[in-house]
Amino acid sequence: MVTIDPAVSGADLDALDAHVRGRVVRAGNADYDSVRAVFNGMIDRRPAVIVRCTDPADVARSISFARNHDLVISVRGGGHNVAGNAVCDGGVMLDLSLMKHLSVDPAARVAVAGPGLTLGELDRGTQRHGLATPLGVMSGTGIAGLTLGGGLGWLNGRYGLACDNLLGAEVVTADGELLQVGPDRYPDLFWALRGGGGNFGVVTSFSYGLHPVGPVLAGGLTYPWSQASEVLHFHDDFLATAPDELTTAVSVGVVGTGGPTLSIAVCWCGAPEDGERALRPLRAVGPPSADTIAMASYVALQSAPDTSFPTGRLHYWKSGYLRDMTDGAIQTLLKHIPQMPSAMSGVGLQRLHGAAGRVAPDATAFPHREDQYDLVILAQWADPLESARNITWARGLFDAMRPHLQNAVYVNNLGAEGPARVRDAYGPNYERLTLVKQTYDASNVFRLNQNVPPRDPQRGVVLPS
Ligand SMILES: Cc1cc2nc3c(=O)[nH]c(=O)nc-3n(C[C@H](O)[C@H](O)[C@H](O)COP(=O)(O)OP(=O)(O)OC[C@H]3O[C@@H](n4cnc5c(N)ncnc54)[C@H](O)[C@@H]3O)c2cc1C
Repeated sequence: MVTIDPAVSGADLDALDAHVRGRVVRAGNADYDSVRAVFNGMIDRRPAVIVRCTDPADVARSISFARNHDLVISVRGGGHNVAGNAVCDGGVMLDLSLMKHLSVDPAARVAVAGPGLTLGELDRGTQRHGLATPLGVMSGTGIAGLTLGGGLGWLNGRYGLACDNLLGAEVVTADGELLQVGPDRYPDLFWALRGGGGNFGVVTSFSYGLHPVGPVLAGGLTYPWSQASEVLHFHDDFLATAPDELTTAVSVGVVGTGGPTLSIAVCWCGAPEDGERALRPLRAVGPPSADTIAMASYVALQSAPDTSFPTGRLHYWKSGYLRDMTDGAIQTLLKHIPQMPSAMSGVGLQRLHGAAGRVAPDATAFPHREDQYDLVILAQWADPLESARNITWARGLFDAMRPHLQNAVYVNNLGAEGPARVRDAYGPNYERLTLVKQTYDASNVFRLNQNVPPRDPQRGVVLPS
């Protein structure tokens, strides 16, 4: 059943089509279903129109079309976000996935990248020059949503988050203006773009600083379940003095019919011989039942988890920051793993530390600058009939973990969890973000996101409609 807002006629859509360089896709077009699909198979929304934008002018025209017809706007970069805000019901979906321009200046160590690029595409382009900017950990994630929310990955210990390496951005505002944003041009907006998500405008180009990144020492250590508690304690103590070059991520889950398992993935991005030395204690504890740590190309590392997260599976995530790996936190976590209804699910503890942790909490909109774990309860399954069971498991584990977690969450892990959790995501930066929102999007045109409402200092917070 196709629902198109009665405010939009076929003639209106024809006129829009005639005025954009990209393509207008509507219900009934052969590719309508494939273009509106996003990573999370739980999301099934039907926009009145999808504009496959090719340049900032397309973006501006699409925004103006939506505003003139009083339609909600959704913005799609890589389409990877589990909340599914990239696609809307009955509104205008701005699909930026065709905007994949990339230029790399190896001498200046700068990459200028389109918002449709995936992490893998940007990595491949920069690695041709032996360079990289910190991004996430799997190749299919879009650089746009990742960077605008923060961007936590294998290089965060040494070079910070993706947003910390943003040098500038080109932004189309709610009024259709094209702004070149950087530290000296619209500095309030530049501050907000680094962690504040898609609230402030549509980014049509990102400029990143690059670093030399050669082959890395990377892989995983798997430990017997009986050793899980001891290993988690050891790993936590070990990280307290670990160099910035080492970033780790713990996964707990179930492997096939083999029962619960704990593994620690590592990436060492410094000199290999130093890495071998630094990793020795971690490779000895337990001892591991499997050790796959070896030299690998950075691009290969960045696509290592891809097959475990194919597009279209059903996802439900709960998340929060774990600062103290206490006995209580460990026992709670381990108790819930064997009850996991789907072997595709798991819990990830990605470490934020080093350079990423040393940035002042108010230097960018991303405030969570302590050494800590980004804990993600990642329920993933294939059969829609199993949805209730999997969601209940994820919620049950989250509720049990809550006393051990900070009242804080990484915005890019949030689902549709309400305004209080968005406040948790922005913590002390929330109020300032509402003021920047007031400056650049006072009507909350960009509200289909983890929404920061505009605040008119005279009238107070305007809640999203
Ligand atoms: C399997 C998996 C692994 C992940 N791993 C990591 C990881 O290692 N590290 C990490 O930090 N995160 C990770 N994430 C989370 C990821 O950062 C977010 O899902 C991010 O939002 C994805 O960006 P996207 O462009 O693909 O998403 P989209 O769904 O396209 O966009 C998400 C939101 O960002 C906004 N947006 C997107 N593009 C623009 C733009 N050009 N201008 C303005 N607003 C825009 C919109 O509000 C949109 O709703 C992972 C997610 C998944 C599903």
